[in-house]
Amino acid sequence: MTEVIDGDAVAAEVRESLTESIETLEAAGVTPGLATVLMSDDPASETYVSMKQRDCEEVGIDGVHVELDPETPAEELYDTIEDLNGDPSVHGILVQMPVPDHVDDRRVLRAIDPVKDVDGFHPENVGRLVAGNDRYRPCTPHGVQKLLAAYDVETEGADAVIVGRSDIVGKPLANLLLQKREDGNATVTVCHSRTDDLAAKTRDADILVAAAGRPEFIDGEMVGEGATVVDVGVNRVDADTEKGYELVGDVDYDSAREKADHITPVPGGVGPMTRAMLLYNTVKAAGLQEDVEVALP
Ligand code: NDP
Repeated sequence: MTEVIDGDAVAAEVRESLTESIETLEAAGVTPGLATVLMSDDPASETYVSMKQRDCEEVGIDGVHVELDPETPAEELYDTIEDLNGDPSVHGILVQMPVPDHVDDRRVLRAIDPVKDVDGFHPENVGRLVAGNDRYRPCTPHGVQKLLAAYDVETEGADAVIVGRSDIVGKPLANLLLQKREDGNATVTVCHSRTDDLAAKTRDADILVAAAGRPEFIDGEMVGEGATVVDVGVNRVDADTEKGYELVGDVDYDSAREKADHITPVPGGVGPMTRAMLLYNTVKAAGLQEDVEVALP
């Protein structure tokens, strides 16, 4: 019997535990604060940011939202980040990507104070993660680790195959699963668009993570018997729905499910965990900056 990994339920547990950590902070006179910066009129980005703000409100994190017109000169964005770096009520800063072409996204990531970099994308935090001394684990990979742990899927000794090598999903997840730690210790293969015979590699995986941004391209033929399949993909495809589209993952769910022991659905798998782990990092950031010891789930 395939077990469907319920990301909504695990995310709710993480949020519940964080409520207790936030109470600890409150008792010390600290309200954690997260600033989101949006410089885009892309509807998907707008939705992501408003969901993140809603999540903050729900658990008791103060949300600050800055919206900049996409035509705004890049310097104004850098100045905004500088102001937020200096604002003691803001413990975490998230600039919603992608930013417009005239903005240097690497400069944006470098501009955020590494201690407030709750996405974990600042070069200092990337370096720490690779070195096995992470401060903030990037939200999506960390969420994947939490999902695996919640369903007792052992990473230690497992062959983990990740399809996708982006800086926000594939690479950090590969690094995390490789760490000499209980939630790591996997043998990791990272695949990408130039990988030769992808299906042979994915079929060998005990843990197969799809993060390629290609709708339903990993089907049952590419999944080994008894594997755990984690679908990070979120793709909008045209559909006869009210919105005119539906969201599908990178995995062809029905055929993959026939082979897998565990599988994440889309929606309701990795997505809610990404959001929960942003709250986690914000609470951690508040504890670090205010010197309050908080227990984290
Ligand atoms: P990117 O587009 O940055 O990276 C995609 C990666 O997949 C690249 O490394 C690319 O290879 C590889 N790839 C593309 N096509 C193939 C193929 N046919 N075979 C093998 N590898 C391929 O994507 P992201 O990492 O940002 O996102 C991946 C997916 O995850 C997207 O659907 C995104 O929407 C979703 N996502 C979901 C999140 C969540 O919370 N659920 C959070 C973040 C992302 P190459 O490097 O060679 O180009």
